[in-house]
Amino acid sequence: MANASRDPILLTPGPLTTALSTKVAMLRDWGSWDSGFNAITATIRERLLDIVSAQGSHVCVPMQGSGTFSVEAAVNTLVPRDGHLLVLINGAYGKRLAKLAQMMGRRTSVFETPEDVPTTAADVERLLAGDRSITHVGLIHCETSTGILNPLVDIASVIARHGKRLIVDAMSSFGALPIDAQASPFDALIAASGKCIEGPPGMGFVIAKKSALETAAGNCTSLSLDLHDQWQYMERTTQWRYTPPTHVVAAFAAALDAHAAEGGQPARLARYERNCDMLVSSMKSLGFRPFLDPAIQAPIIVTFHAPADPRYTFREFYDRVREKGYILYPGKLTQVETFRVGCIGAIGPDEMRQAVNAVRDTLTEMGIERVAPHDVK
Ligand SMILES: *Cc1c(COP(=O)(O)O)cnc(C)c1O
Repeated sequence: MANASRDPILLTPGPLTTALSTKVAMLRDWGSWDSGFNAITATIRERLLDIVSAQGSHVCVPMQGSGTFSVEAAVNTLVPRDGHLLVLINGAYGKRLAKLAQMMGRRTSVFETPEDVPTTAADVERLLAGDRSITHVGLIHCETSTGILNPLVDIASVIARHGKRLIVDAMSSFGALPIDAQASPFDALIAASGKCIEGPPGMGFVIAKKSALETAAGNCTSLSLDLHDQWQYMERTTQWRYTPPTHVVAAFAAALDAHAAEGGQPARLARYERNCDMLVSSMKSLGFRPFLDPAIQAPIIVTFHAPADPRYTFREFYDRVREKGYILYPGKLTQVETFRVGCIGAIGPDEMRQAVNAVRDTLTEMGIERVAPHDVK
């Protein structure tokens, strides 16, 4: 897939490389009162519900800001002030969810597994049976700090059986991995414009269960992040409550057109799987080893062990690959030296192969011979 400009290819999990049609949609100024603009917002809200089969049961509330703003809005609005949130953690985004819940004064418990171990339905069963005061569970669907996939359907059904409520951070899975609001009951599922829908960054959205949002008035301790107020205002006026990111909204609508034209979620997943397969097999042929077991690896972002060679530094490696037109992503693990490569964005297997060629040439330039990590002979 050719990029019209000479911008580098972003192999990062948002912001990411967008299609030309998405960029072009930003070349127009919209007034926030304009009925044409408000019609775009309405269409986006409906189409996002369709992607996760949430029509009828849920409403979609967009929110200004990066994805974290929407996570914070969902938790602060949907968890009552006397609620108790259990957060399932196996990476940095789980930790962030727990931290923001604590900061807004909600009672928060955490359950943490190592970064290469998914949370299981059995874990959640045991945790809910052990503490009846838990009202809500927070789950990261694809934990982008490694690319690990947590079993949403199984965990959601355990939570529903216990009569508890689920809040899902589906930021890096929405639009690519299958999610069905009827099969996986949730009160809130959160994502953002600049991930697998391949829009520019700048807005998030919450797919909220209608009955839960209806009873959430007055929960939120923040003015601008009050999801109930944002929803009510939008229903009443068709407008965003405060200044909308107009260019981002228009481009996000164009990105949703491209998502549908490609064949929707199944086609997007198939392309990301081809990207991921090409990336992993080419990197393995250079001697790199992925951090995760393939069985729990989502085709969204791949964590690789850094080369053990003493000549390796991420900074120089990054800069040299960048000169060749590809942007890599640093690792986010505390225990092991890693780096990450995203498989998402308006790119295909050709770009992945070319990126690995840039990595190969960089290794040669840096004189790196030992690509395998320390524990591999
Ligand atoms: C990108 C992402 C977020 C949001 O991060 P921002 O920096 O606020 O955009 C949250 N959770 C996950 C899993 C993500 O991948």
